[in-house]
Amino acid sequence: MYDESTPSRVTLEASDQALVDGILKRHPRALAKAITLVESTRPDHRRRAAGLLDAILPHTGRSIRLGISGSPGAGKSTFIEALGLNLIGRGHRVAVLAIDPSSSISGGSILGDKTRMEHLSVNPDAYIRPSPSRGSLGGVADKTREAMLICEAAGFDVILVETVGVGQSETTVAGMVDAFVLIQLPNAGDDLQAIKKGIVEVADVIVVNKADIDPDAAELARAQLAGALSLLRHASPNWNPVVVALSAARNQGIDEFWGEIERLREAFSSSGELEAKRRRQSVDWMWSLIDSGLRSRFRENPRVRRDLDSVSRSVSEGAMTAAAAAYRLLDYVEAADG
Ligand code: GDP
Repeated sequence: MYDESTPSRVTLEASDQALVDGILKRHPRALAKAITLVESTRPDHRRRAAGLLDAILPHTGRSIRLGISGSPGAGKSTFIEALGLNLIGRGHRVAVLAIDPSSSISGGSILGDKTRMEHLSVNPDAYIRPSPSRGSLGGVADKTREAMLICEAAGFDVILVETVGVGQSETTVAGMVDAFVLIQLPNAGDDLQAIKKGIVEVADVIVVNKADIDPDAAELARAQLAGALSLLRHASPNWNPVVVALSAARNQGIDEFWGEIERLREAFSSSGELEAKRRRQSVDWMWSLIDSGLRSRFRENPRVRRDLDSVSRSVSEGAMTAAAAAYRLLDYVEAADG
């Protein structure tokens, strides 16, 4: 057991209590303000965000968390709009969060762009948040996880985490959701790409979208993908991945899709897999925060800041080994801690 008598520096600041109350009362402004706070990289904001997250923790975890991915043009936003409106019609509240690591390069995110989900974005039971536009994939993912908890505390019971098909971001998203959905086009080229990149292995449900264009081709793609999936080993012992052909644009097949998600959710909950998965994800998340916290403490150390450039230069010129350089800089941090 850890030493509970050591005071934690993570506490809810008095001024943030109102923010917590606002989130729990589902006030949209409190929700947006809290998410802006967790997205901030300022150290004092990071600490306030940690206190806030601690305070809302008992009100989190009661949603279905789905990752949704696909190549650009596969129909992600059309699908999310159709699915989101369908679910709101059944009494759910739907939050859409995006993870787009390329947004840190372009300075903006096409994912989670409200104009792409015209009707959903103005619906009071929906909340759409584009990807944070700064940081590495890991950093963006940490902030999206935090935003997910805030949305849950604000009463959203379906969380859709959207990402674009670039391989690494899918694996990251799969590590923070209950189930992962891959949207494919009904042509073999798209299937092969996904299989090659290893994305199919993490998918629990594959959607073959745009089935309205050529229903026979869509059915063929569905059958081929189902055949390919039966040959791959899926991570879960309690679920065999399924392939659903549908048309997001015509709003056809959305009920069948959701039926599969409900079946999956039941299989994961009754077997205990859902709880085990979420526990594992929480520990992975803690490590991700420790890694990024250590890295930023390292970079903020005054002696590291002073010497980093010259030491890097010595390594690149062959005057110092990488190991000697790394230990020299790490020793600065250790000396500061001691
Ligand atoms: P994203 O880049 O993955 O978000 O893809 P979009 O949702 O923006 O869709 C790309 C294009 O495909 C748009 O022009 C959509 O109108 C179209 N589209 C999406 N779903 C369907 C569908 O089910 N059938 C047809 N015919 N077109 C679709």
